[in-house]
Amino acid sequence: MTGFTAPKGTFDLLPPASELVLAVRAAMSAPLVNAGYGYIETPVFEETALFERGVGESSDVVSKEMYSFVTRGDDHVTLRPEGTAGVVRAAIQHRLYAGQLPVKLWYSGSFFRYERPQAGRYRHFSQVGAEALGVDDPLLDAELIALAMQAYASLGLSRVRLLLNTLGCRECRPVYRAALQDFLRGLDLDEETRRRVEINPLRVLDDKRESVQKQLSGAPVGRDFLDDACREHYDAVRAALSSLGVSWEEAPRLVRGLDYYTRTTFEFQHDGLGAQSAVGGGGRYDGLSEDIGGPSMPGVGWALGVDRTILALQSEDVSLAEASGVQVFAVPLGFEAKQRLLVVVDALRRKGIRADLVFGDRGLKGAMKAADRSGAALTIVAGERDLSDGNVQVKDMATAAQEAVAIDDVVDHIEKRLQQ
Ligand code: AMP
Repeated sequence: MTGFTAPKGTFDLLPPASELVLAVRAAMSAPLVNAGYGYIETPVFEETALFERGVGESSDVVSKEMYSFVTRGDDHVTLRPEGTAGVVRAAIQHRLYAGQLPVKLWYSGSFFRYERPQAGRYRHFSQVGAEALGVDDPLLDAELIALAMQAYASLGLSRVRLLLNTLGCRECRPVYRAALQDFLRGLDLDEETRRRVEINPLRVLDDKRESVQKQLSGAPVGRDFLDDACREHYDAVRAALSSLGVSWEEAPRLVRGLDYYTRTTFEFQHDGLGAQSAVGGGGRYDGLSEDIGGPSMPGVGWALGVDRTILALQSEDVSLAEASGVQVFAVPLGFEAKQRLLVVVDALRRKGIRADLVFGDRGLKGAMKAADRSGAALTIVAGERDLSDGNVQVKDMATAAQEAVAIDDVVDHIEKRLQQ
């Protein structure tokens, strides 16, 4: 029998690399917390119909990629493929729109899409997201975009580009959609793509195939169909971004994979990632609340991919400050020494010093190897003889210099050494 492995398209996060994930999530959420966004947690599964109606049945995410199943109680549920639908569902259910507006929320968690796995594309992935609900203010769009750029910058990433577009609203988009369909019907496309022209023509613009892309050069552009309100909205977003010092590239063909977007849409791209270059994305979704049975509640939001951001950090060779591993490692020789050092390690930990101890019965050689591997700066070694003198040995792992320190003073001694 072969052993179990993590399912295809998923992976385990192990120390020390897993520390990076925590650091990235923290860096993504810090600007949000500063800007008044409150933390929300919703279930990892929701009623399947929520995503069908919210994300849109014609999207790839809903039609091809959902992990859907029927429960023992005959409920149709789906592992969430994205965060916005669940957050908006919660805002409706708990009538958050009746309180102070905008409702600003952020989340962090696992998402699931049955995709073809490749570098940067997984079936289980991690996002940090933000949503601002209940106010249709273009300055909120700009605020959110600026907060994402701050998050990337705080991680030390310098090659994140912002692509910006507007998709118009439910009044002007149908006019554009019809014009685009007219154009696309005249092209040489395969059966499936022709079907897509009828169901979701905007997605055809996103087709990565060369044979399709080269036919699209004369396609009508959404910008030319915007109504006055949408044009003003977009101008206001761009003016606010300029005033915040955020630069962007106009991307008139940018279409995102989720159907609920209206007006402002954007993507954060990194050029070090190959095919899966989007490290985050988002936009405005003014009709989503009504689509899932709620009141009018305009919204704008984004989701940043944690896994791809880590790949971006690796491609830029950015290493985040070492927060992992222990600072002090204790090597007791004998049972009594172990009991004494457990108390010392406990005292160090209470002072916020990361400390660990050799457990089990390892000889001196094995124990020193463990100390080496721990990455600790200082090792405390205690044998029977030291202890009967009331001492322990403190070894500097970089220089191998060792000195005897009274066991009663060792916590203070180490605290001072680590501050130097
Ligand atoms: P979306 O929810 O599609 O707007 O995606 C937002 C961000 O989540 C993307 O820019 C990616 O960084 C990340 N993401 C989406 N799908 C995946 C996936 N299958 N694997 C890894 N990251 C993903």
